[in-house]
Amino acid sequence: MKILVKDGHLLDPKNNMDGRYDILIEDGRITAVGAGLTTNDAEIIAADGLLVVPGLIDIHVHLRDPGLEYKEDIISGTRAAAAGGITSVACMPNTRPVIDTVPVVEYIINKARRDGSANVYPVAAISQVMKGDVLSEMGELKAAGCVAFSDDGMPVVSGELMRRALEYADTFGAPIISHAEDLTLVGEGCMNEGEVATELGLKGIPWVAEDAATARDIMLAEFTNSRLHVAHVSTKGSVELVRQAKARGVKVTCEATPHHFTLTDEAVRGYNTNAKMNPPLRSQADVDAVRAGLADGTIDAIATDHAPHHYDEKNVEFAIALNGIVGLESMLPLTMNLVRDGIISRQQAIALMTCQPAAIIGIDRGSLEVGAVADLTIIDPDLEWTLDARQLKSKSKNTPFDGWLMRGAAIRTLLAGRTVYQR
Ligand SMILES: [Zn+2]
Repeated sequence: MKILVKDGHLLDPKNNMDGRYDILIEDGRITAVGAGLTTNDAEIIAADGLLVVPGLIDIHVHLRDPGLEYKEDIISGTRAAAAGGITSVACMPNTRPVIDTVPVVEYIINKARRDGSANVYPVAAISQVMKGDVLSEMGELKAAGCVAFSDDGMPVVSGELMRRALEYADTFGAPIISHAEDLTLVGEGCMNEGEVATELGLKGIPWVAEDAATARDIMLAEFTNSRLHVAHVSTKGSVELVRQAKARGVKVTCEATPHHFTLTDEAVRGYNTNAKMNPPLRSQADVDAVRAGLADGTIDAIATDHAPHHYDEKNVEFAIALNGIVGLESMLPLTMNLVRDGIISRQQAIALMTCQPAAIIGIDRGSLEVGAVADLTIIDPDLEWTLDARQLKSKSKNTPFDGWLMRGAAIRTLLAGRTVYQR
């Protein structure tokens, strides 16, 4: 089976390609990239006026499968990914059971291969059952196909366990993904500490709850000379800690979410539980710092922290509503907003969603070179559409962007040459 993607504007930051090129796909792989390619027996995909980029990669996704399929499962979650132009996701281990044994890793990989619309790379737990006491069987889990380790959703409270985790994971070439949060500083906080929390009468979470934990994990990465990836940085201080650590050669990377570079804690007004997440939406100064971190390369990846929840888990009093929002279907337009606002270049935007996250989890994706698997996304960067939560492919509808006018959308998503989404 041959496919020729014709006349698109190819943007492939890894290979420094930025111009009008055609792509020939045969049996799921890219076999030629060049100007004016012709063939007489291929399906033609006309990409005139559209961007053609490597399939987007989101390294922070909660697929809720196994065990919490009423929120999301591998089929619905990867369908949502494909609709968002995303062809690869790394899924977090806070499922039931937790991803801390080989059978769970195999279950996810097999189900995704059989029925999924995107590649799924499991992230296994750092500690058994994510309890923070005993390390998981990292060697076996890595051999079974997990790409990183994290107790995401919970911090690793013990510095000693984090030290061992970093040392051990590094011997398998896998990063530790830190959910940096000092729970004693969070206390009963349920939104960012500040004026808005005071006005709403809600308990606040201070920025130092994130910064203190980020600082500890960076120091442990430095001490062990091991790889650390900091998830969802949301504060000015965390961005600066990563910036300084990189400057002195610490092996640290980090990611930011679209909601943390788009919204402030003002979105919580009206006790909007779809603006409740962890880390919480912060101040404008924090948003500006995250944007600056994306612009200067301190932040390596844009990741959604896609966290689907059932309506009943959000339609409750703010303080007890569950944390998190769905994000797979809004990452692309929200990132394109940064390009239009002049904060990052188009090339940077695509790198933050393709080759850079691929490098963090060590997967052979995020590039359109000859020989690569043909995961690619065709984007109309100017298409205007209104996000309607009810129309999302995700099983859950918990988004603060319901009703927003979006600009930019995936028109067609190809997974190994197979169309998995078409708008
Ligand atoms: Zn987290």
